[in-house]
This record gives sequence, structure tokens and C-alpha cells, in this order.
Amino acid sequence: LPEYAFIGRSNVGKSSLINMLTNRKSLAKTSGKPGKTQLINHFLINKNWHLVDLPGYGYARVSKSSKKVFQKFITQYFSFREQLVTAFVLVDIRHNPQPIDLEFMQWLGENGIPFSIIFTKADKLKPKAIENHINDYKNIMLETWEDMPNYFITSSTKNIGQDELLNYIDGLNENMNLDKGE
Ligand code: GDP
Repeated sequence: LPEYAFIGRSNVGKSSLINMLTNRKSLAKTSGKPGKTQLINHFLINKNWHLVDLPGYGYARVSKSSKKVFQKFITQYFSFREQLVTAFVLVDIRHNPQPIDLEFMQWLGENGIPFSIIFTKADKLKPKAIENHINDYKNIMLETWEDMPNYFITSSTKNIGQDELLNYIDGLNENMNLDKGE
């Protein structure tokens, strides 16, 4: 089955987003504590695709050696996942573009791994501020890339962006089936 990976800095709102997408309250554990999701979790959605929950990166309070282990782990995941269609990189809409996120997206791009950005916690900002933050992102991305990647704006507390994301994924899945002649 096609697979979609969700990844981002610890505390970005990944567990909450996964719970929103799966309509479950406590499937992925949410916690205020950074670095709680350590292992890869798979969720089967609509019986036709897998959501892959990757561990959060970039928490300050881990040692250098565990950062290395994490990097290796993530690198291996992306190197061997043939089912992977797209990675969704989550970023908190409130933050300015962060080097760690930009570096990670750069790495995905260089390795030919398609990705989209998910801006989380949109309920925390006014529309104008959201627009400004996204423009900042665009400007930075366009220094390196020809286009701004596909992006989505979500809020797990206000249930924003759920349909758009699920429809996008359904569309990609349908295209793949067409390609396969099904
Ligand atoms: P993870 O570490 O990336 O899995 O992040 P969590 O889903 O555990 O969320 C981290 C914190 O942000 C928790 O306190 C959540 O309640 C909060 N949070 C997550 N998503 C949203 C959102 O869309 N809006 C708001 N206001 N808070 C959120």
C-alpha cells in the first residue's frame, strides 16, 4: 500500500494532527513533553494507505550521539521505503523558518524524496500573520528551489485542513492506480 510519512520537530503538533486525520482521540499519544514519539508507528487509513508517524527531530535536550542515531534511523527509513509517496514536513506556523527544518527539506529535495509542508497550529495566528509567515517561507525556499513546495495549513484544535489533506492524499493514490492501469 502507498505510504505517507509525517515528520517534524518535536512538539510541532504531529500527534494531534495524526489524531485529527484518523478521527481518533488517543491513537497517537499527545504530550507536552518533547521527544515522546520515539518509534515508527503505522496507521492504516481507509484501508488503502498507510500513515507513517516518524519520530520528532530537533529537541535540544538530547545528546549528540542520540542525534546521530536518529539521523541514521531517518536516513534509513527514507532510503528503503519503496511505498513512500510523499513526506509531510510539519512546521509550527508561529515560528520563523528554522534552519533545522530547512536543512531537512533540503536533504529530502536532494535525495529526490517528494515532500509537502504542513503548517500546524493555525488557530494560534490571525490570517494576516499566517500569510506573512508563509511568505517568509516562500522567499527562503525560492532562494534554493524553483518552486515553493505544496503546502497545507492545519489546526488540530479547530479541525482545519483535514479534508484538504485527505483529499490530496486520495488524489495521489488515485493517480497511482491510474498509472498502474487499475
Ligand atoms: P508532537 O510532539 O509533534 O506529537 O506534538 P503534540 O501533538 O503532542 O502537540 C504538542 C503541543 O501542542 C500539545 O500541547 C498540543 O495540545 C499542542 N497542539 C497541537 N496541535 C495544536 C493545534 O492545532 N492548535 C493548538 N492551539 N495547539 C496544538
